[in-house]
Amino acid sequence: MAKKQFQAESKRLLDLMINSIYTHKEIFLREIISNASDAIDKLCYMSLTDENVGLSREDFKILVKLDKDARTVTVSDNGVGMDAEEMENNLGVIARSGSFQFKSGMEQGDREKADIDIIGQFGVGFYSAFMVADRVTVISRKYGADAACKWESEGADGYTVSEAERESVGTDVIMHIKPDGEEERYSEYLDIWRLKELVKKYSDYVRWPIVMDVEHYEQQETGETDENGKPKTEYVTVTRAETVNSMVPIWQRSKNDASDEDCKKFYQEKFHDTEAPLAVIRVNAEGTVSYKALLFIPARAPYDFYSRDYQPGLQLYSSGVMIMDRCADLLPDCFRFVRGVVDSPDLSLNISREMLQHDRQLKVIASNLEKKVKAELKKLLDNDRDAYTTFWKSFGVLIKYGIVNDYGLKKDLLKDLLVYQNSFGDALISLDEYTKEKMPESQKVIYYAAAENARRAASLPQTEQVRDAGYGLLYMTDEADDFVVRMLDGYNDKKFCNVSVDDLGLETDLEKADTEKKAEENKALLDFVKETLGDQVEAVRLSHKLKSHPVFLSTEGEITLEVEKYFKSLPGANTEHVKARRILELNGSHPAFAALQKAYEEDTERAAKLAKILLAQAKLIADVPLDDPSGYAELVCALF
Ligand code: ADP
Repeated sequence: MAKKQFQAESKRLLDLMINSIYTHKEIFLREIISNASDAIDKLCYMSLTDENVGLSREDFKILVKLDKDARTVTVSDNGVGMDAEEMENNLGVIARSGSFQFKSGMEQGDREKADIDIIGQFGVGFYSAFMVADRVTVISRKYGADAACKWESEGADGYTVSEAERESVGTDVIMHIKPDGEEERYSEYLDIWRLKELVKKYSDYVRWPIVMDVEHYEQQETGETDENGKPKTEYVTVTRAETVNSMVPIWQRSKNDASDEDCKKFYQEKFHDTEAPLAVIRVNAEGTVSYKALLFIPARAPYDFYSRDYQPGLQLYSSGVMIMDRCADLLPDCFRFVRGVVDSPDLSLNISREMLQHDRQLKVIASNLEKKVKAELKKLLDNDRDAYTTFWKSFGVLIKYGIVNDYGLKKDLLKDLLVYQNSFGDALISLDEYTKEKMPESQKVIYYAAAENARRAASLPQTEQVRDAGYGLLYMTDEADDFVVRMLDGYNDKKFCNVSVDDLGLETDLEKADTEKKAEENKALLDFVKETLGDQVEAVRLSHKLKSHPVFLSTEGEITLEVEKYFKSLPGANTEHVKARRILELNGSHPAFAALQKAYEEDTERAAKLAKILLAQAKLIADVPLDDPSGYAELVCALF
């Protein structure tokens, strides 16, 4: 029989499995059992509308069999099965292994470590059998087909597909366990207790019974009697088929039966996360729509979370039968990091994906879940700032875009969840804390400084006056921040004040008049500076905001420097017209200004140089790139 070759990608994955140094090879059983369970889900689902299936819920099961002499472990199911073509398509190629694209980006040197990470974090399905087996045989009969077929492979040199016998619909995956090596003892998987332990550990919540022949050492009567007439007994080994897993889905259990720790363990196994989730949300709703939900807030984003390929959504069940793997309609986009399951007997089973979108019950569930997730996040924010900070680092940006998107539809839901770095300390604070706890009565607005990071924001000259007044600032370091501020238009009746753009409102009338008088006196000089700088700036002014610093760059109008930077960073966008109107603000009381005045009176050429230097410095402070850095260096060095 001709051997067929694996596709290149699959071959690499196989090589990886065969030569795996991964220490948790035991997960192979979980992967194979989970495939069996999926296959049963499919046939069970079909049986609801197709009476020819001839099986009812109670008939479905997964068998795990051991043959010590033949050194085989067999996982059998009476699920939907595969025909020859499906075997080729499903087992001969990597189904949808995003993990591999991810891996190809790695340096060769990191490979070994990456391999382990991939196996650990993503699981690799069917192929994991090759970590413990040197030959894998799959015999399957598809529902509706008359004949069965066999797929067989010894690993990297390809596979064969041929005809086979199987009495009924379903699949057997027969793993021929590798001989023991110097370091590896594969024989451990030929021990029924070890296999049972693995089923318990990884597959306890599989909805279908996992049945194993378990040996028991029992006392039995021999049929004879002793000298006193009592029945004689002896110890014998009896083998009995036992359902090993507890089956009842964890979300159907009460809090007493499934602790938060149990739920976290379930999450890590089900969603292949090496980290425990930050929060567990249980919902048990009874009313117009009854459902149970078990949701999790992960600690970090999966590797492909921010890529286009990521499919968000919750697993949707109807009375324990899975009807959709990733139902995205159950959560708003801003909460798409939430993982978990929803189970409702009220949902019709034979509902199509399209119909589900318009399902009234689903909408009710979705709107409830949205509130629950918000409440849980708020609880985390109020009670565990460290955990919330972890959450924020992973997913904060989604909350921000959630506020801005859809014309602010979700802003009231999300605004309480915003947290910012700030001038008070290292901990992130919410807008509620800023406005209620940190703002003295005298403070009228929420001051914030925007920059690439908190350190830069803190060192902006235009923050000095705010701080001197005894007020604190929020530091806005995200691209989305500017848009969020606009969308919110204030918080707790307090408006936002961008220290780079808005009037700080901190000057007395007298100080204001003083600055204006000084500007009037220096009008010719300011005009000269503007003329020298040309259209690099819209205007040159004496500042109302500066105290100890000589200069800074502010802007006028809707487009701030941060907005301009954001649009410039978009690939391919035509951003010519997105330009902040720059204002050069000078400190009239600073020695630098006095030097400029003096130069203007004595040597205008020197005054022009100083003006250029001041603009360059303002740009540096604002993190705006200089058009001509070496020209700037020359200007400065010429002063030596
Ligand atoms: P995944 O389960 O992530 O899709 P696998 O490599 O584990 O990837 O399996 C590939 C595919 O092979 C499955 O999606 C399924 O279509 C098919 N398959 C595997 N095991 C079985 C089985 N026991 N019964 C029917 N189909 C199966």
